[in-house]
Amino acid sequence: MFCPNCGSQTEAGTICANCGAFVQGSEPQQAAPPPAPYPPQQPYQQQPYQQPYGQPAYGAQPNVDDQPSTILNLLGCCIPMAGLIMYLIMKDQTPNKAKAIGKWTIIGLISGFVLGIVYAILMVAGVFAFSSLGLPNDFFSEFAAAFFLR
Ligand SMILES: [Zn+2]
Repeated sequence: MFCPNCGSQTEAGTICANCGAFVQGSEPQQAAPPPAPYPPQQPYQQQPYQQPYGQPAYGAQPNVDDQPSTILNLLGCCIPMAGLIMYLIMKDQTPNKAKAIGKWTIIGLISGFVLGIVYAILMVAGVFAFSSLGLPNDFFSEFAAAFFLR
């Protein structure tokens, strides 16, 4: 057997002594089964185009993208007023998109409310911390009173 790489005499199933390439055995590769004969060609007339079942005819519905939009959801979450407006505008044409925006608007409102409470707690805690440090007590308590009790 000859090495397919360099052509020198080599034993089959070993590494070629001349170039180091692996020389496969001389047994011929098992032939693949012959491909199945093609089915007889159907005349074109026997395969009329079939309208996909349940698919509305093209143009029956306006081509509206009704998938929830991540960008608009984020916008509604960050700016609840914008989310509310988008919801009102889109709820008829694209209900899925509007519902997603509405959901994220509510999430944004709730987290904004929670953040507001946390902010107020931190403000009060800060005022008390400054008071206990002996910093100008009157200023901070008056500031807090003006801020929270107006
Ligand atoms: Zn070789």
